[in-house]
Amino acid sequence: MLKKYKIGIDIDNVISNFDEILLKEFLKHDKKLRNTGIVNNDVYITRGMFDWTKEEFDDFYYNNIERIAQSLNVIDNAPEYIRKLKEEGNEIYIISGRDNGEYSDPYKMTIDWLNKYKIEYDKLILTNAYDSLEKAKMCIKNNINIMIDDSIRIISEVNKSGITALLMDTPYNREENNLQRVHNWKEIYEFITNLSREKIKVILDTDTYNECDDLFKKLGESSNG
Ligand SMILES: [Mg+2]
Repeated sequence: MLKKYKIGIDIDNVISNFDEILLKEFLKHDKKLRNTGIVNNDVYITRGMFDWTKEEFDDFYYNNIERIAQSLNVIDNAPEYIRKLKEEGNEIYIISGRDNGEYSDPYKMTIDWLNKYKIEYDKLILTNAYDSLEKAKMCIKNNINIMIDDSIRIISEVNKSGITALLMDTPYNREENNLQRVHNWKEIYEFITNLSREKIKVILDTDTYNECDDLFKKLGESSNG
């Protein structure tokens, strides 16, 4: 017996290998420009890793991001573990910040990509990645119990709302040590399964001792929420 959850899952860097492909594309384009290579390894790819001018950046990024997003691959085992979580009765909400003006038809593009890799889900929600609070708001609105994202900002906001928030590890979010960090889909699956077992155990233990019916009733109610 496992407790069922509504699980929110980000796409880029959680299901897709976005940063890996983006970096490859930037390195390739950099060769065509001046072949300077990486000038700052301590910042994110789009925030000064290369010596490109704003015009060079804009010209490459906005003319290629849609093609790049369509070409992404899945992170190891993501489709398999998402399917397993769904088969076990959890609801899968894919929540991605792709409604941000960078894609001509973000819903169609995303649905096609999810279908291509046979990712099973119950609902797709696209937010604007440039609105720092929208994802957390959508989690609350949709009664999400667990959210997985690689953005420190988003996971901090979600965490503040009392939702279980898991930060997917990337080379660019390691300065954060106060959030629950996960590294791969096996670990995510095990975390959710353990959380579910713990919740059920609390309810069963209370039932066994049956010291206080009201307490049990309360726990039972909150576990259904
Ligand atoms: Mg992401």
